Amino acid sequence: MEIPKSILDQVLPQATAYWAHIVATYSPQKIEFVGTLLAQFLTFWLPSICYMLLDVLAPSFSQRHKIQPAPKQPNRREIVRCFLVVLQNQILSSVLHLTLLFAASHAGIKSTYRIETSLPAPVEILRDVFFSLLIREALFYYSHRLLHIPALYIPIHKKHHRFTAPIALAAQFAHPIEHIFANTLPISLPPQLLGSHVVTFWVFLAYELMNTATVHSGYDFFCHKAKMHDLHHEKFNLNYGSLGLLDWVHGTDKLKKRRTA
Ligand SMILES: [Zn+2]
Ligand SMILES: [Zn+2]
Repeated sequence: MEIPKSILDQVLPQATAYWAHIVATYSPQKIEFVGTLLAQFLTFWLPSICYMLLDVLAPSFSQRHKIQPAPKQPNRREIVRCFLVVLQNQILSSVLHLTLLFAASHAGIKSTYRIETSLPAPVEILRDVFFSLLIREALFYYSHRLLHIPALYIPIHKKHHRFTAPIALAAQFAHPIEHIFANTLPISLPPQLLGSHVVTFWVFLAYELMNTATVHSGYDFFCHKAKMHDLHHEKFNLNYGSLGLLDWVHGTDKLKKRRTA
């Protein structure tokens, strides 16, 4: 108990002073936009590229941990196309974020999250992340199920399912409409609805992005965490959610036969 406390005692005042300096130096819009972009780079792009490099840097280790067999894995051309589509989606969400910040500032709102000189207390971060996880589960589960009705599946969601054996970057290989309504809003909205501190939003965003890169990675790391969503890509009609809570409630946690897409 004493060791973590002494580390906290040293780190927290420094972090608080540094944060207060950032808040005093930069505008709330700049802090929110640059911090969010940095979180996306550090917790989505970087881990995704590391997962994908495993194939090249440690092929035998990679083969041992791949969930689906080698013949089902995407080829180099598909991986390059995936990278370009994900980059397009990143640009789209960043442009929309900037537009939202400009619109909010015209309406007299400086930031879409709470930005103040103090950092949020750890218990506040835990509380807001917990409720954000539950709200995100509902938003993602129902928007994802909606995307599986034929009228929406074919023109929109089929693109994401192109990778039947997914790779980490394929988490955001999606139609722009899906990227905004099923990927971006279910993560950005819950902390806004809860009035969360921007740092709490970044903690939640970091968790969700690392989680989505991991569940699409195609590897069975972290207690087989990826298997649930990997199976959704392979079989289509189960495991629509992220936590598994609403799949359990609606009985979509098990494979139903005689249903496609
Ligand atoms: Zn799906
Ligand atoms: Zn997916």
